[in-house]
Amino acid sequence: MENAIDAHSSQIHIEIERGGSALIRIIDDGDGINKEDLALAVTRHATSKIKTLSELEQIISLGFRGEALASISAVSRLSIKSKEAEQEQAWMINTGTESDFANYSADPEPVAHPQGTTIEVRDLFFNTPARRKFMRTIKTEFKHIDDIVKRIALSQFDITFKLTHNKKLLRNLPKAVTEKAISQRISKLFSPEFLCNANKVDFISDHFSNMGQIRLWGWVSAPQWNRKQSDWQYFYVNGRYIKDKLVNHALRQAYQELLPEDTFSAYLLYLEIDPQQVDVNVHPTKHEVRFRQTRLVHDFIYSGIKQALFPQSSAFEIASESMNDSVDQSAALSTHDEHYINRYRQTNSNQHAADYYQPKMHSSLNQNQVAEQLNGLTQLYRSASHHLTEKTEHEQATKSPAINTSKELFFGVSLGCLIPNYLMSQAVPADEDTQVFIIHLARAQQFLLSQLFQMGQKTPLLIPETINLSSQQIELLLEHQSELERWGLDISQLGTDTLMVRKMPFLCNIPGCKINLSPFVHSIAQNIKLKNAINDAVMLEILLNSIISDVLNASEQARLLQMLSEQIYLYGVESAALLKPVIWKILDESSLDKLLA
Ligand code: ADP
Ligand code: MG
Repeated sequence: MENAIDAHSSQIHIEIERGGSALIRIIDDGDGINKEDLALAVTRHATSKIKTLSELEQIISLGFRGEALASISAVSRLSIKSKEAEQEQAWMINTGTESDFANYSADPEPVAHPQGTTIEVRDLFFNTPARRKFMRTIKTEFKHIDDIVKRIALSQFDITFKLTHNKKLLRNLPKAVTEKAISQRISKLFSPEFLCNANKVDFISDHFSNMGQIRLWGWVSAPQWNRKQSDWQYFYVNGRYIKDKLVNHALRQAYQELLPEDTFSAYLLYLEIDPQQVDVNVHPTKHEVRFRQTRLVHDFIYSGIKQALFPQSSAFEIASESMNDSVDQSAALSTHDEHYINRYRQTNSNQHAADYYQPKMHSSLNQNQVAEQLNGLTQLYRSASHHLTEKTEHEQATKSPAINTSKELFFGVSLGCLIPNYLMSQAVPADEDTQVFIIHLARAQQFLLSQLFQMGQKTPLLIPETINLSSQQIELLLEHQSELERWGLDISQLGTDTLMVRKMPFLCNIPGCKINLSPFVHSIAQNIKLKNAINDAVMLEILLNSIISDVLNASEQARLLQMLSEQIYLYGVESAALLKPVIWKILDESSLDKLLA
């Protein structure tokens, strides 16, 4: 959907089948992709959205890393049909059973398609059964999709959206240009209740410090009205939905003492700011941003909301004070702000806190990384025209340095295994409080394995292992030998009641991960005896339960945290947080307060 928006579409249709597991089809009427670029679009780190260094520092598109299509093509059957306005003919590429476009070399085929693009994702995770198993019910998966459609539709009023599930039209949102139409869309997506109880925000400044024009507009719930959940809180920065601590803080502060405990405000807010003033390349999900001038943006949002909540009060005066180009910023701070600053000064004496308060321009862009990224991108562009014919150059280009997607690991750095079976780590996310994680080692390893496991891969054993089993069990296992091989298990009979294992399932290089072989094989035999068949879901379960953990050294701890962070980002931090059994907990001030109460 973001690609369709970046391509200036005016209509986007989303067609879903079986919660997205069978089909996700996005049809747009945007700029389209030309024949030569089709295969490039699914190449990792290929993007048409950034061409120069300065563009990387002021991103105006929603996408810019060139990862979405490449990643999706690796775990589904993907096809793209597209036609540019200037082209006579539409073209299509199709991964078919090819699991990754990395090896894709077929030429695009002609196809009938109007201007725009249709992306079809079929059989999501068909080649990663373990991951497929982790999909939720159709209903839940569709709800996730619907939430995203909603989130996007609330920021792109001039685009028509249609969403169908199993061919049933569930959302029909015509383009909304007039104020009335916009209100209608909002009422449809939240409920009419929201706008009835909301104050309008429109706060603008042309001469805001040295930041250029900045505008905050939208709606915030009136002080006397509130919700039990925080589900109606939407904040966008230049059209991008974000969740940001700084923004939250500014809003909470503006509402301070207006909301009863355990209740939440509702808001739909749009911040428009010079793209140079925000770094969106901070977090893989792109839902977090970093403002170059955090303090000023915080004050601006606070003032804008205050003014909307109390139009008659002196908030505007406070605001204009704090917006002055005054050299001494602190002169304009309210008492609340002082509090806020002091709290940070006290709790964060490290470098990170210093960054927080003395934001430098471009502080978060490491120039070396940027140069590397650009180098890679330039190579890709250069090779774009011949990349279908000149495979070697194309291969070189795809191996060029990647856009760094994990500037900050979700789990941060290891503090060690202070308690047996638990790994502790510390993350210092940008603009956020330090977080200490307690990670259940075995569960983390099981989660990783369930995400990464691929059929058909094996670990050969230097010295084959033998297991004692009854001859009946051995017979059962041998009957299913070929199926077991898919799971990486290579067995043969050594004696009447001895089984020899030459290869074991591949555990994806997860640090500290080992298979407890004898119980593993016994469980399989027992299961085959019960069901007289091998069920993939059960096999996975058995495999996960047969894992034992070794003691991890420091570099293994670091690697585990890195692998885990990557998977959590892929999985989505929010859905990962709901995983049962619980893999990790965050130790923060409030949980410690509770613990020690
Ligand atoms: P990114 O959006 O970060 O560039 P993607 O993998 O999402 O990376 O897409 C790769 C490229 O494919 C885009 O840069 C764009 O050129 C092209 N593309 C993808 N989807 C569309 C679309 N719906 N319309 C036009 N171009 C598209
Ligand atoms: Mg994209």
